[in-house]
Amino acid sequence: MATPKKNQASPAPEPPPSGPMFFRGILGQERVLGHLRAAWKAGRLAHAYLFLGPQGVGRESVARALAAALNCTQPLPEWDACGECPACRRMLAGTHADFLVIRPTSEHRQPQIKIGQIRDFRKLTAYPPMEGGWRVALIKPAEDMQPEAANALLKTLEEPPARHLLILAAASETELFPTIVSRCQKFLFAPLPSVLVIRELQARRGLSREEAVFLTALSGGSLGRALALDPGELAQQRRQVLEDLEKLASGSPAAAVAWAHRLAKNNQELDHFILLAQMWYRDLLVRHSGGAHRLLAHQDSLAALEEEGKRGGPETWFASFGALAAAHRQLQANLNQELTLDILGFRWQRQGLHHESR
Ligand SMILES: [Zn+2]
Repeated sequence: MATPKKNQASPAPEPPPSGPMFFRGILGQERVLGHLRAAWKAGRLAHAYLFLGPQGVGRESVARALAAALNCTQPLPEWDACGECPACRRMLAGTHADFLVIRPTSEHRQPQIKIGQIRDFRKLTAYPPMEGGWRVALIKPAEDMQPEAANALLKTLEEPPARHLLILAAASETELFPTIVSRCQKFLFAPLPSVLVIRELQARRGLSREEAVFLTALSGGSLGRALALDPGELAQQRRQVLEDLEKLASGSPAAAVAWAHRLAKNNQELDHFILLAQMWYRDLLVRHSGGAHRLLAHQDSLAALEEEGKRGGPETWFASFGALAAAHRQLQANLNQELTLDILGFRWQRQGLHHESR
């Protein structure tokens, strides 16, 4: 059989990956790894997997480790890549010809995985894997496939070529065609336990325990997200949040409107404001009910928590937390941001942030 030209249909080269490359380096996700290893041992690996879960919990790392294990020439007994054979070395360098990552291109405003990318991949599947093992393709995020691209991919899912494995990574299945979902075996990737994220942040970034706890509390169990956060910047944002809350509690309606106007202009600041403020009220409630120090997200701000704890009480904190949660839901539903924040500001002013009787 003819072999494809080396440059045919290959996606743009990727920089060598920074995350774990092998099953033994994956954090958490034991259930997923257990299923994959059992399927391999029984000779029952699926042709296509759908990895569902939030960003930064290991979907891409597991895909890469799976490709490495399938292509390793001297796999370890528990089924993991050896890390030393030529195939493993190419995986490590990000140059293995049979591991492909199909990502959105952003020539247009909205990043999309286009039909041309899927067509190129389908052309490649007419040939056996170049290095004699398995060809593994990761499509991420699968939600970014244009409808025509998804339709083209469906043909591959309906007639899976031998020694090919497709992995679709998505946050949830709601934005995928049901016809695609039904042809993949699903795995749910859970958020990582806090203790793992804290340990990794300390080991990889040399953070203090308090800093690592703070970032982990804001990461929602995503190591990727925690690694991308800057502790100095977040501490600065927290100071701003506490100042804002103080001003809102005692200020005029004009102050609330100005605050809403400022925050509505910056999505990231808005996200962090809501998260930081929610964690703040949560910590006040934890302390009030005698919870252990280690349960606090803001362990590095005990003095400020103490002071606030003397001024307010649980009724106000519950109400403030509830107001934040309601605003968060409305913001996620894409209601008018500034209007939602105006109302949040007024609610706070009405109830007073600190004193039950204000
Ligand atoms: Zn190997």
